[in-house]
Amino acid sequence: MNPDQIETAFQRLREREPEPTTELTYKTPFELLIAVILSAQATDVSVNQATEKLYPIANTPQAIIDLGVNDLKSYIKSIGLFNTKAENIIKTCRMLMDLHNGQVPERRESLEALPGVGRKTANVILNTAFGHSTIAVDTHIFRVSNRTGIAPGKNVIEVEKRLVDRVPRKYQRRAHHWLILLGRYTCIARNPKCEQCLISDICPSAFQLKAVSTTKSRNPKTAKKRSGSRLKSASNSNQRGQSGPTKKNTAKR
Ligand code: SF4
Repeated sequence: MNPDQIETAFQRLREREPEPTTELTYKTPFELLIAVILSAQATDVSVNQATEKLYPIANTPQAIIDLGVNDLKSYIKSIGLFNTKAENIIKTCRMLMDLHNGQVPERRESLEALPGVGRKTANVILNTAFGHSTIAVDTHIFRVSNRTGIAPGKNVIEVEKRLVDRVPRKYQRRAHHWLILLGRYTCIARNPKCEQCLISDICPSAFQLKAVSTTKSRNPKTAKKRSGSRLKSASNSNQRGQSGPTKKNTAKR
């Protein structure tokens, strides 16, 4: 996309959702930090289900240290990699107490020094908890940036740098969430919904990515079964795509 098209794309994304934010439920920077650590390779919904039980019991570094690793695991055991995540969260809480007065630091280097916190998580915290114009590149943003040509790149760092270079400053603070929402609900990995996409007239990949095989199986019975489940799944996705993020998910900002 050229600069005018990038401007148009973000104008439209802003018109549709003027103030997008994370779908993770949180009230404080610390709650957001723990939720983002838990969300690696897990859905926001599963994280929210765990934290809605955990946070009334423990939502500060000291409270989580007091809870202990085993009790912490019992709250997050439905989330993938919960053993490692629990260990990292306890270590992170100790560092927050020892080095940062129990507060979440507002500096990238300090955030990235915490166990379980990498560049992407630090970017999310800086952006969402502290209002910095950082852009965390996750799988959705990586895909959307490449498909649209807004910021093509071979790896997440390349894409992040191009986004920072190419997204107009006035959109940078919200760019992360607009691109995630576009990738999560419309520009999905398989069979993107170009027909519903508000930038299909300026996207170079529009209607080019529909080549998911419908003839993998030569067995008509199996093929029919597969086709049925694909349609069902597409229909579920469509419902999400049309409604966008749920009110419940966006209620706490
Ligand atoms: S037009 Fe299609 S490929 Fe392009 S961003 Fe929209 S959904 Fe993705």
